[in-house]
Order: sequence, then C-alpha cells, then structure tokens
Amino acid sequence: MTKITVAKGDGIGPEIMDAALRIIQAAGAKIEVEEIEVGEKVYLSGNAAGISKESWDVIRRNKIFLKAPITTPQGGGYKSLNVTTRKFLGLYSNVRPCLSLHPFVQTKHPIMDVVIVRENEEDLYAGIEHQQTDEVVQCLKLISRPGCEKIVRYAFEYAKQYDRKKVTCFTKDNIMKQTDGLFHKVFDEIAAEYPEIENEHWIIDIGAAKLADTPETFDVIVMPNLYGDVLSDVAAQIAGSVGLAGSANIGEECAMFEAIHGSAPRRAGQNMANPSGLLQGALMMLNHIRQGEVAEKVQNAWLKTIEDGIHTYDIFTDGVSTQKVGTKEFADAVIANLGQKPNVLKSVKYNQSAIRIPKYQRKAPAKKELVGVDVFVHWQGSNPDELAAKLNGMVVPGIELTMITNRGIKVWPEGFSETFCTDHWRCRFKPNGQKVLEKEAIIRLLSNALSNEIDAVKTENLYMFEGVDAYSLGQGQ
Ligand code: NAD
Repeated sequence: MTKITVAKGDGIGPEIMDAALRIIQAAGAKIEVEEIEVGEKVYLSGNAAGISKESWDVIRRNKIFLKAPITTPQGGGYKSLNVTTRKFLGLYSNVRPCLSLHPFVQTKHPIMDVVIVRENEEDLYAGIEHQQTDEVVQCLKLISRPGCEKIVRYAFEYAKQYDRKKVTCFTKDNIMKQTDGLFHKVFDEIAAEYPEIENEHWIIDIGAAKLADTPETFDVIVMPNLYGDVLSDVAAQIAGSVGLAGSANIGEECAMFEAIHGSAPRRAGQNMANPSGLLQGALMMLNHIRQGEVAEKVQNAWLKTIEDGIHTYDIFTDGVSTQKVGTKEFADAVIANLGQKPNVLKSVKYNQSAIRIPKYQRKAPAKKELVGVDVFVHWQGSNPDELAAKLNGMVVPGIELTMITNRGIKVWPEGFSETFCTDHWRCRFKPNGQKVLEKEAIIRLLSNALSNEIDAVKTENLYMFEGVDAYSLGQGQ
C-alpha cells in the first residue's frame, strides 16, 4: 500500500479526481489517499501561494502527489502553485506523452506517439530578471551540468523503460553556445551510454517545425525548460488530445502527477468533464510507484473505451462516437472494460520496475582562470567611438578595452554605423600582456568608472576553464 497525497482542486477538479480514483481503485491500485486542500479557496483566504504549511508537510511526507487542476484567482500577487511545487520539491523532469487516438479522436496526425521530456527547474524559469538601463531589461538563462545530466539521463531511462527506440534532443546551440551548448554536450555524453537507443539532435526551430509537420518521425524528445513548455503544448494539441493528456513531474525524492488542462470552471459541477487527462497522470503515478500491472490494465481498458466510441462531449464526433457520456458514466465504462484490450489501437505492456536515476555526483573542479571582464554600461550616447574614448579614461595599467557590443553585436572597434544601438553597452576589458587578470583590477576599474561618471550597471567575469574560453564573443567578431 502506498500512501499518496491527493488534491481535488477547483472547477471540474473534484469530479475528474473522483472518477480517476474510482477507476484505478477498481483495477486494484494499492493506494491510501490523504487529501489536502490547495487552490482557489486557499488563495482567497489570503495565502498568496495557494497552499498551507500543513499541506506542504503532507506532500513532503508522502512524496507522491496526485493533483487536480486548480483555479488561480484573477489579479496580481498570486503565485503559480505548479511552478512553486516544481521548484520547492526539485521536480526536475516534466514528462508529457502525446498519443494520437486516430480514428477515434480527430487529429491531423493519425500516427503520433511522442513523449516530451522537459527540463523543469532551470533555464529562463529561474526567474532572475533585472532592469538595468532606461531601455533594457534582462532575464538570466541558467543551465547547470547537474540539471542537464539528470534530465537527459531521465529521457534515456524513460526510453529504456517504455521500450522506445529513439531519443531526440532540441536546442539552439548554434546561437547559445554556452547554455544550450552544455545541454547538447551532456546529451551526446549520456547518449553514448545507451548504444541500444538511437539518438539525434535538431536545432529547435527546424526540429519544432518537423514535430508539427511529421510527428510520427519522433519518439522521445528531451529539451530545456522554455522550449519544452511551448512544444509540449504544441505536441498535445496536434495529437488532438489536450483534454486527454497527463503529465508527470519527477524529482529525486518526490513526484507530482496531473492532467495538462486547467480547471475549466464553466464545465464544473455538471458531470460533463473528461477525466482522461487526470487518469493518464494517475497511470504515470502507478508506474512510478511500481504498480505498473494496474496501470497497464487501466490503460488498455481506457483505450478500449475510447475505441468503443464512448466519449465525453469534448471528443464526441457524430459518425465516430457511439455514445455521449458524462464524467461518471465514462468512468463506469472504463471500469466495465477492465481486463480487456483495444482491438485497433495499440495495447500497452508496461515494465513492472520503475525509473530510478542515480544521484548526481559532483565532478572535481576544473582549472579556472580569470582572463578579462565585461563591464555593462548605461550610456545615452550613440557613437561607440565616443564611448570608447570615455572608457579609456577608466582603464588601469595592464588592462585595455578590447571590444564594445550593443545587444551582442560588436560596435567597436570597426562597427557599422547602421547597427541600431540602445543605451546598454557591454565593454570588454582584457589584460594586455599577461593572460590572467587579478580580481583587484576589476575593483580598480569600477572605482575609476565611478570617478569618471561612467554608469557601470553590472560586471561579468570572463573565465577560461581548462584553457578554453568560456564566454561569448561579440557577434560580428
Ligand atoms: P482549461 O484547460 O481549464 O480550459 C480550456 C478549454 O478546454 C475550455 O473550453 C474547457 O472547457 C476545456 N476543457 C479543459 N479540460 C477539460 C476536460 N477535462 N474535459 C472537457 N473539457 C475540458 O484552461 P483555461 O480556461 O485557460 O483555465 C481555467 C483555469 O484553470 C484558470 O484559472 C487557470 O489558471 C487554471 N489552470 C490550471 C492548471 C493546473 O492547475 N495545472 C493548468 C492550466 C490552467
């Protein structure tokens, strides 16, 4: 018996949760439910996070959390419970299977069975943003080696567990050579440990286009957070099944399972909603807690029910569907089909073990040398030669100004007069003689900036790791 935390959520949440729990319990799931309240009521009681301390304690104690959708109240100040939960519990992996159920559910892509594995904790979602000048704001894109290793390994282990043939990686490492470059590098390293699974990499733009056009050519796709956020919705939508898809958020200790849709308040309390998305989440949970046998039984019965044309309003199509049913009746139909397999759709066979990823082992530190500094300057002028002359007044002996960029484009020396410039300038200083820069020189540089009335808004140290430059050059360099 595994104790799980359940939140029935808002809107259609309670109805679809009751249906999903009823189905899996009828199939023999060995679970004990401990219910907590999260969502609208908690938000409106003045708790900006939508969850109480006591509920956190329950989630952390049970470690497995099945969550119905919640309603985030309108207006500012309310934090997304999903984002908070993922980050606090270290749920690094978001897994979203997108399966087309042709010809029983309408889709433009009859053959589609793609699983998006999205990194869930870092990238631009670290949410570290600053306004630095009148005209420029920034968001830090943080990608870590542990983050990459965990998610890529999860994708390959997932492929192994579910007998998938190929793992594809999407990044934009032709532009973001450090951040997406690390993700791609780690993908190549880990892919080599799984020679039995095919691997490939696509630049995200053409990869996304191919996914939307020919999803049948993909199997498991792993990608950084932001790309995964967008493409997992695209994939679910083109499978024709946003209302039918579930998702898992997996961490080293805890895991959360849910439907991908929201609380559909307009449909609430009418016994209309489709419980399939949450049911899919619940089946991923059963696989995670090593009750794959039960998950397999339910999935096959569910596929048979869809195939029988017993459909809720959202997927009902004249000529294809045979019976329009409500939430409860749909659950009854799945329960009646337990033990049966689909005839046309592919039945499932789940491996009875569960995916477990080894804990990240920190590597020995690399040789790290400070070889320069980028000083970002807020300056209202427009002629980079003028700025260079001004900056030369702040240099210290042994250091020289080597480059100025504006939004990443080199504008000095030898820039183009056509390049549009904002008020945010990256000014690169490097030692002119020895290779390594003392940190103290940066302090003196900034002190000179202050006395020369140069508005330095931030600095970024330039490092070599193991003798390799580990920073971007200016575009045009
Ligand atoms: P939604 O997913 O709730 O609804 C979009 C459309 O899909 C609606 O027409 C709805 O009726 C339909 N739909 C959704 N689920 C369905 C189901 N199971 N069966 C039948 N039809 C279904 O998205 P929304 O309207 O943008 O959001 C409503 C609320 O849900 C908002 O407060 C939003 O913040 C919240 N939300 C919560 C989550 C979550 O808790 N994970 C996710 C997304 C949105």
